[in-house]
Amino acid sequence: MKWKEQMHQLHAYQPGKSIAEVKTHHTRHSIIKLASNENPYGYSLKVDPVLKEFGGTLNIYPDGKASKLRADTASLLEVDPNQLIFTNGTDELIQIISRSLIQPGKNTVMATPTFSQYKHNAVLEGGEVREIPLIDGIHDLDRMLSAIDENTTVVWVCNPNNPTGTYIAIEKLWTFLKKVPNDVFVVLDEAYFEYVEQPGNTIELLEDFPNVMITRTFSKIYGLASLRVGYGISSVDIIQKLEAARPPFNTNVLGQMAAAAAISDQEFVKECFQKNAAEREKYYAFSLDNGLKVYLSEGNFVLIDFKWDGDEVTNFLLEKGIIVRSGKQLGFPTCVRITIGLTEQNERVREAIKEFIKERSING
Ligand code: PMP
Repeated sequence: MKWKEQMHQLHAYQPGKSIAEVKTHHTRHSIIKLASNENPYGYSLKVDPVLKEFGGTLNIYPDGKASKLRADTASLLEVDPNQLIFTNGTDELIQIISRSLIQPGKNTVMATPTFSQYKHNAVLEGGEVREIPLIDGIHDLDRMLSAIDENTTVVWVCNPNNPTGTYIAIEKLWTFLKKVPNDVFVVLDEAYFEYVEQPGNTIELLEDFPNVMITRTFSKIYGLASLRVGYGISSVDIIQKLEAARPPFNTNVLGQMAAAAAISDQEFVKECFQKNAAEREKYYAFSLDNGLKVYLSEGNFVLIDFKWDGDEVTNFLLEKGIIVRSGKQLGFPTCVRITIGLTEQNERVREAIKEFIKERSING
């Protein structure tokens, strides 16, 4: 087979373990999955009735323009509907952007560690990847700026960053964007935007910077990860261009309906935001009490540094029925990334961590 050369460097995406997988192999405990930053509170009660009313026209293609979802999202965000593109999760949007702008001879700038799919797609397109190390978990915007040259096509800023959860304030972003040449496409990945406590409406940046796209998703606070709906917000011209690379009918009919119902329920979003913030605080207090470093997160997850093999911590928790993500796969080998769950789930996690600390100090 005559594969693209770069295909030999790539592997399939490794998701966190599923509950079913762990059930058969690992443990007799009840299992909680806190590995993929999903919403532990589920999704809005407005979603199920809408899905139940669905008339069963599965033989008909979905609305390729996602018209209702587009109108509802535009109205909430106070943007022109033509400033939006809807995709099969933001994963697909990252793919569309990469396919449209990255190619051999061009380069793309991103932080490291950050969300894996920017690099993955850039490699697939044969572009050069310029990775700028985080400083204590935070994007080094100055070095990212220095890495930009005339062959740079895309700059990725994951905000809050996955896996650290760290956040760049809007003023800093503005100063950064001001220095980026206006023919370089800047992606602000805001998958966790709705969890952010710091003030500021990043959509306002789009007025000053038509070369910027904000990406958001229905997979996180809206709780619809299985239905695969994400979207991008940018200038009308950019959207028009990217639309040419969007596969037809890429968001499915149930996803569009569920997302429109979900976005109509901002009360649910607010509730999840508040509960998540309160639970996040408890992780900070716990980490402080137990001498563990935790990165300051604005997302629905925390990255905790155990100064110990991340796989070992992950496997210890797995034995107790708790699925988390080892930092080993995420560029932080002594850390573990934990999705913030329900109160009682988080208590169970912290108890298990305490046991780990106790056992290790007994053993060692
Ligand atoms: N961006 C970031 C930062 C993420 O963490 C994720 C999911 N883990 C995605 C994008 C992709 O999300 P989705 O495709 O479900 O919208």
